[in-house]
Amino acid sequence: MTYRAPLADIGLALKHAAGFAPALAGGLYGDLTEDVVDAVLTEAGRFATDVLAPLNQVGDRIGAQFKDGAVTTPPGWKEAYRGWAAAGWNGLAAPADWGGQDLPQALNAACIEMWHSACMAFGLGPMLTMAGIDALVAHGSDMLKAAYLPRLVSGEWMGTMQLTEPQAGSDVGALRTRAERAGDGSYRLSGQKIFITYGEHDLTDNIVHLVLARLPDAPDGTRGISLFLVPKFLPNADGTLGARNDVRAHSIEHKMGIHASPTCTMVMGDHGGATGYLIGEENRGMACMFTMMNRARLAVGLQGVAVAERAMQQALSYARERKQGRTAASAEAGPIISHPDVKRMLLTMRALTRAARAICYATAVAIDRSHRAANDDARHAAADRAALLTPVAKAFSTDIANEVASLGIQVHGGMGYIEETGAAQHYRDARIAAIYEGTNGIQAIDLVTRKLPLANGAAVAEAIADIRHTVAALDAVNDPAFGWTGVRLSDAAESLDRATHWLLAQRGNAAALAGATPFLRLFALALGGTLLADEALAAARLADGSANAAARIACARFFAENIAVHARALEQTVRESADSVNSADAALGD
Ligand SMILES: Cc1cc2nc3c(=O)[nH]c(=O)nc-3n(C[C@H](O)[C@H](O)[C@H](O)COP(=O)(O)OP(=O)(O)OC[C@H]3O[C@@H](n4cnc5c(N)ncnc54)[C@H](O)[C@@H]3O)c2cc1C
Repeated sequence: MTYRAPLADIGLALKHAAGFAPALAGGLYGDLTEDVVDAVLTEAGRFATDVLAPLNQVGDRIGAQFKDGAVTTPPGWKEAYRGWAAAGWNGLAAPADWGGQDLPQALNAACIEMWHSACMAFGLGPMLTMAGIDALVAHGSDMLKAAYLPRLVSGEWMGTMQLTEPQAGSDVGALRTRAERAGDGSYRLSGQKIFITYGEHDLTDNIVHLVLARLPDAPDGTRGISLFLVPKFLPNADGTLGARNDVRAHSIEHKMGIHASPTCTMVMGDHGGATGYLIGEENRGMACMFTMMNRARLAVGLQGVAVAERAMQQALSYARERKQGRTAASAEAGPIISHPDVKRMLLTMRALTRAARAICYATAVAIDRSHRAANDDARHAAADRAALLTPVAKAFSTDIANEVASLGIQVHGGMGYIEETGAAQHYRDARIAAIYEGTNGIQAIDLVTRKLPLANGAAVAEAIADIRHTVAALDAVNDPAFGWTGVRLSDAAESLDRATHWLLAQRGNAAALAGATPFLRLFALALGGTLLADEALAAARLADGSANAAARIACARFFAENIAVHARALEQTVRESADSVNSADAALGD
């Protein structure tokens, strides 16, 4: 089954749950109009459906091929990439100074979702290029910007992100790749990186690697890491490609999913060291890399939404066609969608996907506000909101992607387990998203240890205040169609508030981190449920009836009554995890 871009869902989530409509009306995006936004979304949906979606199965079946240091992408990949870049999609949110269109990150987020729904293995490469552009814009020297940004923004060259080494995964501070000062302002890098996405390929003539490495006199740990730009080919002064740099792909991995995305082991320094150029300051590389990682973390969250959406579409279509078992309404075998348990699975898939989408888009709008708001206070508050939501967007969306893709297989019954159906590919592709870009466990720890304390707890307090605001709005409309939505979301908000205070009081108590993952889920359930309620309330307000208010209310209600209802138990788990996890050590001893 192919992909249909869910433009109505995307538009509603973006404009009325994530806060894009008020931002647009308030002038955050200058003279950008809703018509332009809608036109961009429609075109992106068309490109994703018509050009990228057909690559998904062939990419999975044939995969990226490695021979003699070169990587060949599957048939159709190169043409699709060139068409995609030529249409300007790579530079949608990049600065106009460097050839981009300076459109909102939030609009780009919606497009990123569509690229990945159509074909996750394709979307991943450009997604890392976009994150690299952000890092270079924020921290690069004028010379580096002038030499690399125009070509990265146009998509003529692609980028990579190189952190991981065999002994340095979650613990980036353990990395050993060395950088020596060359005396002419450049550096020579040597070492090995593993698991590097699109480290080598045939889509572009040059590849721009952003590499973390350590200078000989650097302090230990993350305070001794610097970020370098290492091109595959060193450009000449006139911009043409010059000498081949001392960086190469040694091999690619055979993986569970995203087969067409080459995951490379990279080697630098066979011939005296790869030429690299410092981004930012020496030993301050983690701060620069965080610009790239935060953007990539949101994009990985969007991958989760994307794969969940595609799995959901496929399961829904199958459930309408497949006949099995009598239903209450008929003596004949009916479509499986009429069985309440199948409906439950499909509604769970849809509600989780929409909630994750709204959280990701809300994070993107906060990023836009952090750059574009009129005054410092507003920019800082928005930056804190974006920082708070980023781990939730990444981890919740990718966790639910796994759950939704698994349910997608379940809806198909035995056919879901058979590769030709395509449901299994979504499940295999989705699995990595909870692991890379910082595992979801690391995201939860980041949320609890670094994000809750932001602005002395004010950032999270404001997010909880927004949730209560929606609960009050639900009370005010007093529409019986919402059922227990207001009550369940109010309970979730209070559970989140109590769990937050408890965790803030535990600062320094490492054992409390056993509750980090349940806390992140609790946060996402309260927030996601609220954003779905915002969507439903907005749909009911839209005079033209275009948003099918009854369907939106039903979805928000399902989420609140069936999913957000777990918030209370999660609160309890957060508080009791430290004791129960640590006292259960013995259970792992056998
Ligand atoms: C397909 C693919 C593509 C990738 N692309 C890239 C890329 O482009 N660039 C790049 O640099 N890397 C990339 N990676 C690497 C990826 O980011 C790492 O695999 C990931 O960060 C986890 O590191 P690790 O594999 O060493 O696992 P480990 O760090 O060994 O973690 C193993 C388990 O222990 C847990 N854990 C570890 N430390 C802690 C802790 N302190 N507290 C609690 N739990 C902890 C983790 O959550 C995890 O569950 C890619 C990996 C894959 C498989």
